[in-house]
Amino acid sequence: MIEQRRMLIAGNWKMNLSLDEAVELAASMMEYSSATAKLDIALFPPAVYIERISSLLEHSPIIVGAQNIHPEEAGAFTGEISSKMVLTSGGQMVILGHSERRHIFAETDEFICAKVKRAILSELTPVLCIGETIDQRDAGETNRVLKRQLEGSLDGITIEFPGELVLAYEPVWAIGTGRVATPEQAQEAHAFIREWMDGRFGRAGRDCRILYGGSVKPDNAAGILTQADIDGALVGGASLKSLSFGGIIIEALKILER
Ligand code: PEP
Repeated sequence: MIEQRRMLIAGNWKMNLSLDEAVELAASMMEYSSATAKLDIALFPPAVYIERISSLLEHSPIIVGAQNIHPEEAGAFTGEISSKMVLTSGGQMVILGHSERRHIFAETDEFICAKVKRAILSELTPVLCIGETIDQRDAGETNRVLKRQLEGSLDGITIEFPGELVLAYEPVWAIGTGRVATPEQAQEAHAFIREWMDGRFGRAGRDCRILYGGSVKPDNAAGILTQADIDGALVGGASLKSLSFGGIIIEALKILER
């Protein structure tokens, strides 16, 4: 079982990198393996690279995960991948409900919830992403949106241990924009999410890890990661270079070693 609220630095490579580039990046991340004495590191390569990257990292504590799964176990779903495919390729986690899936591919909370259920049932740890758009924030609707996404994406779900589920607060306006939430904005949202999790799941929910995602870079990581309710980062752009992703890991280590 994962130690409670152990910091997690996760890299979402999205639809980027050739196979050679992906292998090179994963290999260079092995340099940071010793950091896993203090925190967890996870890489989310494109699905077609999972098996290769998992094999490469077989003897490394770095976790590999998928960026998506389909809710069904198997069947006529051309182009989709199942939880079993991820697991049997060496994946241990899966990002679900990323804002790009919600907004570009019109995924609903109901559909995301079915995926979360499948992931938990398969013992694949979901990293459930939630977050508001800039219009919703400006209209003062942030907490209402987060609550709606939490209720919808976790409807009917039960968890026994905090390690069964990871959340990621990713304000849509901060993803890939270079506009990071202030540490105070992020902490406020994380505190709201943790309180909701406590109310919904009790102790197991309160102790789930909540990552912040949205333009995290080595130079802004410390401000974010020192917040009381922030347990790590889900990193997009900066995870595509070992120097910047490694730089975020180093910032996290400095905090943990204080
Ligand atoms: C993401 O896609 O989850 C993300 C946080 O991206 P970026 O770090 O590029 O904003």
